[in-house]
Amino acid sequence: MPNDDLPGVLSFLERFPDEDTCWHHLRDARWPDGFECPMCGEDEDWIFLDNRKRWHCYECGHQPSITSQTILENTNLDLQTWFLAAYLVFTTKKGFSSYELARKLEVHQETAWYLQQRLALIAGPYARRLFGIVEADESYIGGKRDTETKGRSTAKAPVFGAVEDKDDSAGDLVLKHVPNAQAETIDPHVEEHIAKDKATVRTDGLNTYRYLGERTGVDHELVRVSQQDEEAHEIFPWIHTVWGNLKRVLSGVHTKASRAQLQDYLDLFSYRFNHRAQLAEGLEKALGALVQAGRVTREQLKGGAAAKLY
Ligand SMILES: [Zn+2]
Repeated sequence: MPNDDLPGVLSFLERFPDEDTCWHHLRDARWPDGFECPMCGEDEDWIFLDNRKRWHCYECGHQPSITSQTILENTNLDLQTWFLAAYLVFTTKKGFSSYELARKLEVHQETAWYLQQRLALIAGPYARRLFGIVEADESYIGGKRDTETKGRSTAKAPVFGAVEDKDDSAGDLVLKHVPNAQAETIDPHVEEHIAKDKATVRTDGLNTYRYLGERTGVDHELVRVSQQDEEAHEIFPWIHTVWGNLKRVLSGVHTKASRAQLQDYLDLFSYRFNHRAQLAEGLEKALGALVQAGRVTREQLKGGAAAKLY
């Protein structure tokens, strides 16, 4: 893959050498036109408390910080650790298990787990609608031993995938962990992620996809594939490439990942895939999004009742 000017780790650290530099970067990303109170929207009647690095809003009386109402709120991690985490998670082809990330960042495994989960909240919303020829398919992920079930084998998790087929390359990708591959489950994802009137969705002859066009209004091309893998690879080259890469990544890196986290990994995988030719741009977007992704709720942090970071 061609790549752009993604900085190396050293250049990245030279650019963000300390908390202050990171803080200023986030401030400019969050409020390019000057401070606006995240509690009440006031943008004039405030002062900045330099010693506390907080704003005092005279309109509502709150004293927000740079991380107020963002996914970084209530975390005690250095901003630089977040920046480095974003660098690693968004620009490394295969991603990391929380154990590996914890070692790289010199933090607890639990901290790395929450870090990655919060970064996935950035990656999720960036998926755009797919255009042109779109290969859609489903696959089943995992199903090996799961630490949560103490070694009993678990059912494989169905994943719906759609990727733009640009002939000699793949375009953007969307991956969704679904409860099953029934038509009524898949249809809403087709409607949400594939641009009606601007796309032709290409699927195999699985029952799920019969009459997909009639049900969703998306132009549909159903291709009957015989049982031979080779033919499916030729007709659906990009989604098969995606499944192969995804399975390699998940089996090599995320064997200890819980099922509840699968969508997070899919979002991070897709984000990296969709920015693979512009990793620097993807990283810049992610760094800005650290303070724009909205406040994280406990519901968003699946299973994260004890969302402490240390
Ligand atoms: Zn206010």
